[in-house]
Amino acid sequence: MADIAALAAALDGIEIATDRALLRQRSRDFYWYSPILKQRLDGKSAELLARPKDEAEVLRVLTECRAARVPVTVRGGATGNYGQCVPLDGGVLLDMTAMAAPVALTDGVVEVEAGAKMIDLDLWCRDRGWELKLWPSTKRTATIGGFVAGGGAGVGGISHGTMRERGNLVGARVATMQDPPRILDLEGIAANPVNRTYGTTGVLTRIRVPLTPAQAWRDVAIAFPDFVPASRFALDLSFADGIPKKMCGVFDSQLPPFFRGIAEAVPAGHALALVMVAPAAMTALRELAAEHGGRIVAEQDAVEAERDAEKTPFYEYCWNHTTLQVLKRDRGVSYLQCRFPFEDTLKAVEAVRIPFRDEVWMHTECVRFGGRLTMSALPVIRWTSAERLYEIIAAFEAQGIGIANPHVLTIEEGSGYRRVPGDQLGFKQMTDPLGLLNPGKMRDFTPPEPAAA
Ligand SMILES: Cc1cc2nc3c(=O)[nH]c(=O)nc-3n(C[C@H](O)[C@H](O)[C@H](O)COP(=O)(O)OP(=O)(O)OC[C@H]3O[C@@H](n4cnc5c(N)ncnc54)[C@H](O)[C@@H]3O)c2cc1C
Repeated sequence: MADIAALAAALDGIEIATDRALLRQRSRDFYWYSPILKQRLDGKSAELLARPKDEAEVLRVLTECRAARVPVTVRGGATGNYGQCVPLDGGVLLDMTAMAAPVALTDGVVEVEAGAKMIDLDLWCRDRGWELKLWPSTKRTATIGGFVAGGGAGVGGISHGTMRERGNLVGARVATMQDPPRILDLEGIAANPVNRTYGTTGVLTRIRVPLTPAQAWRDVAIAFPDFVPASRFALDLSFADGIPKKMCGVFDSQLPPFFRGIAEAVPAGHALALVMVAPAAMTALRELAAEHGGRIVAEQDAVEAERDAEKTPFYEYCWNHTTLQVLKRDRGVSYLQCRFPFEDTLKAVEAVRIPFRDEVWMHTECVRFGGRLTMSALPVIRWTSAERLYEIIAAFEAQGIGIANPHVLTIEEGSGYRRVPGDQLGFKQMTDPLGLLNPGKMRDFTPPEPAAA
């Protein structure tokens, strides 16, 4: 057991909290989407929360924790889905949200403190004529540090791929757990070991990401009589180089009734495509939708919608918000994350959608990987048991469909096709030799230095 009172005293001057109810509440993310993780993680809690305001305070916290051999788990917006920011071993929860200032925007690259909310960062860039290339559907609550360390896919993926694509992370400043803790400034692929490693390899203090010229995106909802034409439309849209686009999700007919705000516009039994396109592409979009038998049933200004707390930008029905929209009304579901093959994509989708239609409600998102386009999916799954889940996973894999299992805790087990290339294990051995950063989340790691103080 750590001497938390002594640690709190040593952190004098830094914002801290030790209230147990608050700690329990802050030690949670959205792991409860998974009944398996819920069982494993309920009740886990940090023993102290520290909220540093600058790099110097981050280093002070890490120095004291290293000296006392106290684990440190970093927290951004706590919207992760796999318990990434849930401390398995108590210790300190390092809340990064006080470090949220943009630092510079130069040559289309923004440097920002890692605790910045993505919506705030995007609006700041937008005021300067730029926007983020990628964001998660949790943009209104997630931090950029949490997106890099724990997410990495989402809106923008149809045009820019994911955070694992070369160039999508320009660089980062990272605080380590070395002796003594220090700041590393990593550029280009040198930053890969902190990309999607759940804060196990260092604390991101600043991040540099490339931007793209701002667009006045239109949110458009298109209803189709069936899932197959909706998917053909989505794939054609993905390949339509003349249409600037940010997003295209496709939903089988079971799902739109859960989308409060647009459900009434979608005729019963219809599949739905939700897209974000540039205003200049509206004619081309209308024509493409009509060619596939689709009809536009709702439309809005996407940027205005996300600025208005009363409105729902359409991306909040997409990506993993789809699961949340269903969970709001039906707690008996969970989900899966998968990626379909690049060739015969729709054939693979249909090979699993049709046989499992009663318990797997198909939802796909168009996305690029390594320059090739495909559909990834976050299907909603009617939950029966872990055994049944693994039967479904096996059936998907038998069709050549990649799985990034969201029902496990470690990077190695869960990342699948989302794993960022690079020597993350070797990097952690250098930056965290005692294994104090988010212990339990990197399966293959054993601390090179003895843990005893
Ligand atoms: C409804 C819903 C929809 C979602 N949609 C998407 C989506 O579209 N795309 C997607 O990728 N994800 C999605 N997610 C998952 C999650 O919202 C995103 O990955 C988000 O970017 C995480 O950011 P956060 O600030 O909430 O991170 P947190 O949950 O706070 O942290 C995530 C991980 O990053 C680590 N971390 C946080 N900050 C730092 C830092 N400064 N330095 C080092 N490590 C750090 C944490 O320790 C943890 O391991 C969704 C989740 C929900 C609940």
